Amino acid sequence: MRIGFYGGAGEVTGSRHLLEAEGLKVLLDCGLFQGHRKESLDKNRACPFDAASVDAVLLSHAHVDHCGSLPLLVKKGFRGPIRCTAATREITAIMLMDSAHLQESDAQFFNKIHARRGDAERIEPLYTKDDVEACLKLFVSHQYEEWAALSDKVRFRFHNAGHVLGSAMTEVEVKTAKGLRRVFFTGDLGRRKALLMDPPRVPKNADYLLIETTYGDRVHEPVDRVEGILKTVVARAIAEKGKILIPSFALERTQEIVFVLEKMVRRGQIPKIPIFVDSPMAVNITEIFSRHLDGFSFSPEFRDYAAQEGDPFVFQNVRYVRGVEESQSLNDMPGPMIILSASGMCEGGRILHHLRNNLDKDTTRVLLVGYQAQGTLGRRLQEGAKKVKIFGLEHPVWAHVQTLHTFSAHADRDDLMAFLTGLAPRPRRTFLVHGDPAERDALAARLKAEGWDRLERPEYKDSFELE
Ligand SMILES: [Zn+2]
Repeated sequence: MRIGFYGGAGEVTGSRHLLEAEGLKVLLDCGLFQGHRKESLDKNRACPFDAASVDAVLLSHAHVDHCGSLPLLVKKGFRGPIRCTAATREITAIMLMDSAHLQESDAQFFNKIHARRGDAERIEPLYTKDDVEACLKLFVSHQYEEWAALSDKVRFRFHNAGHVLGSAMTEVEVKTAKGLRRVFFTGDLGRRKALLMDPPRVPKNADYLLIETTYGDRVHEPVDRVEGILKTVVARAIAEKGKILIPSFALERTQEIVFVLEKMVRRGQIPKIPIFVDSPMAVNITEIFSRHLDGFSFSPEFRDYAAQEGDPFVFQNVRYVRGVEESQSLNDMPGPMIILSASGMCEGGRILHHLRNNLDKDTTRVLLVGYQAQGTLGRRLQEGAKKVKIFGLEHPVWAHVQTLHTFSAHADRDDLMAFLTGLAPRPRRTFLVHGDPAERDALAARLKAEGWDRLERPEYKDSFELE
């Protein structure tokens, strides 16, 4: 048996791990490298292993850094099944179509600029919507906890990973000449206490563990602090007739916020205030959440709540906005209101229009509820910029910008340590993946202090024999 690391090794995007076992090649995730640097582009264009020789893909969840290279894999000759949970399959279809749309429009923009300059430089999109269509035909869905055979010697099953709807931890069991060997890949792990998801259970008898380390050195604020903050912000918006703008990721974050607000209104903790979810992608994904309300991704508390109160994503205060006209009409409507819109880092999408129209008012509140990468508009707002450029025009910022550190779909340092120290027995070998070097090294140091050995911190293209 061998495991090779072709992404998500010493970095947080491009998750791709190739397991070779008893003549089978199984790819664990096939994510896109994100970021504008040439290095990411080059890594996306290259496939450092033979795509056609891969027998199957086991996909942990629908985030693009885990599934976004699947259409490329298919373009390069992969024809096997892509196995995941039903919810992941549905959400991945939306995420990949959106990703193809971005690739196509980026390439178009690039080519237009270079044509205008008179140079010959042109790029092709990484993949198109047609490539996504071809890729989606290969998807096969599986239930959590259900074993499925990959060959007479290799089988697998998914466990809930508690990260986003449909997210799975993958267990691969291999009959080797030396006996049974179990490989666990956590995918992205959720928190022990989350708003919607059931926390991941700690696996038994893992021989080899691949674990994410995104927040190997950070502790999140507890989720229950959210309600207090929202109560204050909503009260102010009502008093000032202001708008609350929440740039939000379409998957999970939007649904979490809608759920919290809905619960608070039903319990009388905040007055009714119109809420608009203004992002077609978020609207489509929320429909998938509603279809899977009884699924095992959700915590028992959330499922009980939904069983008693009805679908928590459908309530009278929330309007889901698809059309552009309706989105634009929100500009002329007076506050108070809450607008949730993508993208989460204010790098594109309808949120840009809402910011453009409202940043100059001191009654506007911008709530940043997700990670804001260096160089994004979200980060500039977070850092207190007094002027920002949107669509090339400068806008003064009078709005109040507030960051909430309570929302995260990822396990923090303490969640990861609880998961790892709960493993019995300890794995023969543990691979720390999906984390920037500083976060990963900090977690490794902690584990070493607790007596862990055989910890590996793989780099891009490293591979290891599993004895
Ligand atoms: Zn993820």
